[in-house]
Amino acid sequence: MQVKIIGGHGGVTRNYHATSYLIDESLLIDAGSVASGLDIQAQLKIDHILLSHAHLDHTKDLAFICDNCFGLRDKPFEVHCYKTVHSAVKEHIFNNIIWPDFSTLPTPENPTIRFNEIVDEKTIVLGKYRVTPIHVSHPVLKPNEGMGFIVEKDNTAIVFTMDTKATDRIWEVSKKVKNLKAIFTEVSFPNKLQYVADISDHHTPDTIKEELKKMPKDIPIYLGHLKPNYQELLIQEITDLHEPRLHIMYADDVRYNFD
Ligand SMILES: [Zn+2]
Ligand SMILES: [Zn+2]
Repeated sequence: MQVKIIGGHGGVTRNYHATSYLIDESLLIDAGSVASGLDIQAQLKIDHILLSHAHLDHTKDLAFICDNCFGLRDKPFEVHCYKTVHSAVKEHIFNNIIWPDFSTLPTPENPTIRFNEIVDEKTIVLGKYRVTPIHVSHPVLKPNEGMGFIVEKDNTAIVFTMDTKATDRIWEVSKKVKNLKAIFTEVSFPNKLQYVADISDHHTPDTIKEELKKMPKDIPIYLGHLKPNYQELLIQEITDLHEPRLHIMYADDVRYNFD
């Protein structure tokens, strides 16, 4: 599996893009930068879009990929998300005020985008991929809506927590996954902003250090979702952990290959 980081950040600037990871060419995790970071030919090849949660840095480019690809595909983009994420995106983005409701355009029978509900720990098959969604701890609402994903194809499995603070269940399940090749998770704020990380349900380098103890052993860990305004400080603090498993995703438009 190839993981292309279209955008790997927890914010947007000229050089840094919000979260969208493209697996091979057809399976997308989160839609923070899929329109602004890919040309339209590449956008057209996407079949399935997993949404981890409703926050704008993970959903905003859904609006623009629908607009870009309108009338150019013979089937809808299949979006897979938790029920409250669907209702939030429908109510607040595709509401015919902020943006047209592309789930009914050009026709309700053959729309540009179609929403499919995912259920905690219920594996779905999307083409060549097996995807198991697992609730993580972000944002901590009732009902909890944030999902991480375990994605498997052939002899390769990868864990993506997407946004989260300290969490447990995805690590318990991951330890039983065969052929696990990589873990993608997040660190958003530097240690001096621990209180901001706590109230917004994100990690700092200090809390990632503790989280490592719960993760499957000896698997490389890729840290994304750095807030662009604290990127330099985050790189320093993560480097100071002296943990060889950690890879910092400081640049976007990067590809990682796992077999
Ligand atoms: Zn985010
Ligand atoms: Zn978030």
